[in-house]
Amino acid sequence: MKIKVVITDLGYKHYNIERKLIESINGELEVRHCLTEQDVISLARDADGVIVRLQPFSARVIEKLEKCLVVARYGVGVDNIDIAAATKKGIVVANVLDYATDEVAEQALALLFSCIRKITNHDKKIRDGVWDIGQQDPIYRIQGKTLGLIGFGRIAQVLAGKVKGFEFHILAYDPFVKKELAEKTGVELTTLNRVLEESDYISLHLPLNKETFHLINEKTLRTMKSTAILVNTSRGGLVDTKALYRALKEGWINSAGIDVHEEEPPPKDYCLFELDNVVISDHAGWYSEESIQNLQRGAVEAVVAVLTGGWPKFLVNPEVKEMIKKGGRKW
Ligand code: NAD
Repeated sequence: MKIKVVITDLGYKHYNIERKLIESINGELEVRHCLTEQDVISLARDADGVIVRLQPFSARVIEKLEKCLVVARYGVGVDNIDIAAATKKGIVVANVLDYATDEVAEQALALLFSCIRKITNHDKKIRDGVWDIGQQDPIYRIQGKTLGLIGFGRIAQVLAGKVKGFEFHILAYDPFVKKELAEKTGVELTTLNRVLEESDYISLHLPLNKETFHLINEKTLRTMKSTAILVNTSRGGLVDTKALYRALKEGWINSAGIDVHEEEPPPKDYCLFELDNVVISDHAGWYSEESIQNLQRGAVEAVVAVLTGGWPKFLVNPEVKEMIKKGGRKW
């Protein structure tokens, strides 16, 4: 019998990448747009592998699966998959962590440079008939400035590599990274306070969790230089928006480039819309035509890896190895 792989919900222009790879292992791909749990159950019940995008993959669905070995998620977050239920049944859960690393690093830089050179601001002024390169809103030289990275994982490391020509002094705060790794990339690992106090530009590259929620708040904003620029391409909840609004309005910091927001999409009366010294994008950091292909390839490669006896590049539930050893799978 042919291997069966299913995709539970649509989101891309075509599925040629997935189809080609599944067919290369003598499998067949079924793509459907499920609207209910019951739709997912009837599609995935006899599948060997499943790829999900936004569709919930609940314990109820998992319970009905008859021979599934792997569930891969198109994306990073796996909150729509019941990981505990999958692990208990010996099902490998995989995601794609690296599909847009370059894009997000570049989005952070695009926002940063737009703030430094005040591009969107001047664009608006020219359109309003104002031709004024005055010193009321000073622009400072880039060379020799200090760039501070909070979180020094995949994206921050790629960003540090991309800015080599700008002669920045780069500081980073990341309690989980080894000093040697930072040094190898020419980055000085230090305390959070020093990053906040000494950086001219601060870019956030860490996950949102209980410890990092509102890491950027009134206190940390007041620690930054009044000429500092803050960039957030990570998660909206890392920044207390109300405090940021006051910081930008009252000049505690110079400006900000914000890709991710506490509420997405932001409300019509979003306070940051009032300000000229903020450049806003629509959580687009991840996006390029190429990154979408990376994502599709990454998800199907994870499924193929498991169906051919291996492990995915990004394993969400490593405890599943123990479950499988103990005979957690009934098939
Ligand atoms: P990563 O896991 O490779 O790196 C995150 C780093 O943060 C790790 O090195 C970790 O040690 C560090 N960290 C964890 N807790 C910390 C803390 N309390 N203080 C300081 N550092 C801490 O992740 P990544 O791939 O570099 O992604 C970084 C962020 O970018 C994530 O929040 C992710 O959700 C976000 N992201 C945004 C987009 C977008 O479209 N804007 C796309 C992809 C990822």
